[in-house]
Amino acid sequence: MLVCNMAAYVLLLVAFLSVFSGVLSFPVGQENRDTSTACGYQSCHATKPGMLNVHLVPHTHDDVGWLKTVDQYFYGDRNDIQHAGVQYILDSVVDQLLKNPDRRFIYVETGFFYRWWKQQSSSMQQTVKQLVNEGRLEFVNGGWCMSDEATTHYSAVIDQMTIGLRFLNETFGVCGRPRVAWHIDPFGHAREHASMFAQMGYDGFFFGRLDYQDRNRRMKAKEQELLWRASDSLTPPMADLFTGILPNGYNPPEGFCWDQLCTDEPIRDDPDLEDYNVDDVVQRFLQAAKSQASVYKTNHIIMTMGSDFQYENANLWYKNLDKLIRYVNGRQANGSNVNVLYSTPSCYLQELHRANLTWSLKTDDFFPYADNAHNFWTGYFTSRPALKRYERISNSNLQSCNQLEVLGGPVSRKGQFGRGDSETLRRAMAVAQHHDAVSGTEKQHVANDYAKRLAKGWQHCQVLVSNSLASLTGSLAERIYCDNLNISVCPLTESSKKFSVSVYNLLGRTVNWPVRLPVNGTAYSITDAQGKAVDCQVLPVSEATQEVRRNQGFARNELVFQVQAPPLGFSTYTISLLKDRPSSSLPRPAAPSVIQNKFLQVTFDPQTGLLTGLSNLETKQTIKLTQNFYWYNASDGNNYESRQTSGAYIFRPNSSTPVMVASKAKVESFQNSVVQEVRQWFAPWVSQVVRLYADSRAVELEWTVGPVPVNDRQGKEVITRLDTSIKTSEFFYTDSNGREVLQRKKDFRPTWQLKQTEPIAGNYYPINSRAFIKDDVNQLTVVTDRSQGGGSINNGSLEIMLHRRLLYDDYRGVGEALDESSEIYPHGLMVRGRLLLSLEPPASAADIHRPLAQEDVSQPLLSFTDGSLSPSSRLEFSGLQASLPPAVHLLTLSQWDEDSVLLRLEHQFQSWESKVNSQPVTVNLQKLFSSLDVLGFSELNLSANQWKDQMSRFDWTPEKGTGHSNLVWARLGVCWHDIEAPFRWLFLLVLCHFVLKGFINKVELR
Ligand SMILES: [Zn+2]
Repeated sequence: MLVCNMAAYVLLLVAFLSVFSGVLSFPVGQENRDTSTACGYQSCHATKPGMLNVHLVPHTHDDVGWLKTVDQYFYGDRNDIQHAGVQYILDSVVDQLLKNPDRRFIYVETGFFYRWWKQQSSSMQQTVKQLVNEGRLEFVNGGWCMSDEATTHYSAVIDQMTIGLRFLNETFGVCGRPRVAWHIDPFGHAREHASMFAQMGYDGFFFGRLDYQDRNRRMKAKEQELLWRASDSLTPPMADLFTGILPNGYNPPEGFCWDQLCTDEPIRDDPDLEDYNVDDVVQRFLQAAKSQASVYKTNHIIMTMGSDFQYENANLWYKNLDKLIRYVNGRQANGSNVNVLYSTPSCYLQELHRANLTWSLKTDDFFPYADNAHNFWTGYFTSRPALKRYERISNSNLQSCNQLEVLGGPVSRKGQFGRGDSETLRRAMAVAQHHDAVSGTEKQHVANDYAKRLAKGWQHCQVLVSNSLASLTGSLAERIYCDNLNISVCPLTESSKKFSVSVYNLLGRTVNWPVRLPVNGTAYSITDAQGKAVDCQVLPVSEATQEVRRNQGFARNELVFQVQAPPLGFSTYTISLLKDRPSSSLPRPAAPSVIQNKFLQVTFDPQTGLLTGLSNLETKQTIKLTQNFYWYNASDGNNYESRQTSGAYIFRPNSSTPVMVASKAKVESFQNSVVQEVRQWFAPWVSQVVRLYADSRAVELEWTVGPVPVNDRQGKEVITRLDTSIKTSEFFYTDSNGREVLQRKKDFRPTWQLKQTEPIAGNYYPINSRAFIKDDVNQLTVVTDRSQGGGSINNGSLEIMLHRRLLYDDYRGVGEALDESSEIYPHGLMVRGRLLLSLEPPASAADIHRPLAQEDVSQPLLSFTDGSLSPSSRLEFSGLQASLPPAVHLLTLSQWDEDSVLLRLEHQFQSWESKVNSQPVTVNLQKLFSSLDVLGFSELNLSANQWKDQMSRFDWTPEKGTGHSNLVWARLGVCWHDIEAPFRWLFLLVLCHFVLKGFINKVELR
């Protein structure tokens, strides 16, 4: 592979333009169906052009865990917590659909549907297939769950969509492919999600929640339906997504809820019986329809007839809806111009498309979400920080597991160490993306269930990884995995005199990482795979770490060294205890005024022990930088403006001025050839280590917070704040789902005149992997290790919320205060994490923060073996022939079926981010892998449920002058990927800025 030279590319293009591409074809799922049936857009009921058409959409919203666990919801267990049973919903709906062919139903969460499907008899499965083929039962969205949008990483979202949609494809063929994305409940909407949905081939997107001020304005302007241009790098309409905001969240209009969970009056239509109410119901309905139509653009409106876990007894809903349709339409004979019909979101969308109008264009996102003046849903950006980190690590582990399943071959699944699989973790990760999972808005017992599922999935993967590594190394030695290295716990390294560690790198390029292992000796020798000595140092385990690990480990020291591993491969290091000698790393009981390596210099105030400045020694940039910890006093609801409390969803500080934890830190420091670190102790519940490794272009701030004290009966929302000399003019920047970056401005929204009512919470945004502040000269980027909330309240300042401990529920349904504790931490959870800081000129900052964030998201997988390795073991391996260019990220490599793999490659720089790295890059698929022959490949959409060349989406026109040209040639100046087809027979791909491509590759192990 090589970085594309544009001039040479033009010549190549001319030379090969006439050559037909050699795309392979093998089915993704069942592509064939009975041609006598009609699903999707063909199965919609007729509408009446001159009338107001009301699309009734029967639906249920089934949370994949929230107040109950996912399995409790499925079975209808623990109805004392919440009456909800998904199995009964599907039983009942199928039964009711069969009673009247006009009826429709949509189903969303494939994770639940899959559970139900595999319990059905084959005759029931046939019946359901028939309903799907006739469009009477339609899947919308179709991911394993309905993902959260603020706290999820794009990698995990794409995976969870892929497994849900793949199941639908394989079970129902084309009629199972959803046309509409449906995120009716998530608490704010990310631009990257819209971009992904567009690239997954959806024709449109509907949701229920947006800021109340935004909704009011949109209702007046009839802009509740719009065109979302969800990328500033991808050429339109690649990331354009038609977006509809539903009228009542996702509930029916008031007075028309006929579920067993509701109390609205049924339609009493026998005049001989008591309380005949047909006239009244029809009148109220016509009123509701007309009022709704007045704030939408077309003569079609949608009504969501359902809500959370409704339709368990579907007869109640359908019996009344049948009557409603009959009686309302009966009025047409008397001149009524309202037409009601059973419909689905795709049928409604088709009518909007047919209306052939222009739609307002939106290019920002829908964060933060407020449902009223003092109710900003910005707390969940940080809620349950430990779960958020565990989910992120689990994603790393899953990707390593997927790759090693491919690289190790079939023996990975059944080998020396037994049966292993990646499926269990894949499903656990998919469930964890739900909008009450990684978001942190579930009950405590449900959060525990998510974590347990991830742990179980990782156990299955460990067997697979051990099998694969045994095959790749030729060593049958048992492998140990240490999941608690962040708190210096690993029984093997704590006691062993000789052991080895294999570092598996899941990135497509060679990477260096620092490793810290808990040990009890004071001197070690380390050799790398080539037998060369590796510089290492021994430091004492800090008091803060001893406090966090409690009695889980007994290491006195940490062995610190740098490792390097090749792309998609491992490197093995051998570690031997030397005879004890006095430690060379003795602490100094004060902060040094400076720590530095060849790239960076960090300065401290020796009086306070706090940071004072940061310099980039290469670019000769220096900024003032102070950093400290603070907490906001969480509102307890006792407030004259509003009774709103701070809780799992909502962040509402009592005061805009946070309380400083301490103005000075107790400090000790270590300086040696591998790492320099300054250990700061602020309070019994807040400490930090500032670290600078010898080869790092980023400073690490490892924070430890908890148990947050609440004996003063005050809930606390703990932040760290970086105050700098950078002149930010009220702007700052956050990423969207770990991918593109959006500009934020204090007290400002790009699409409406904001009336700011919460000066702190109303300025918080989700940070998934990075945030930065900049001026013309300096950019300070902070890479985070999990999703967190943050803001820039003062000029030059960036704050990130780390932990929350709250004493009240915030009245959004969860019914618990966010007050986490566990067996190990009965007095409140302790959480540890790290921030990586880089200082660069704005024009080249992405060249550092893109790979840095990727290394943080894609943690190396360490596995240990005790004793000496057999001399014949292979110590180093790379699955790639060479490192990928810096702009290219190998996002997915996983086994698809017996002889093919799913591969996703992406260009990871935005169009404007980097002079060097934003350029197009070519990759040769045949020369990609070292141990796999690629026999052929076909390109897929982003969710791997449709061939790329069969993708065809509705075309939507934005309002005045913002349109795009559909001429391929008009796009050539922007990106070249549309015209690479002629090169496919050469296995050559062109990746332009921020393009993400997925392929099914037919492969053979060499
Ligand atoms: Zn929900």
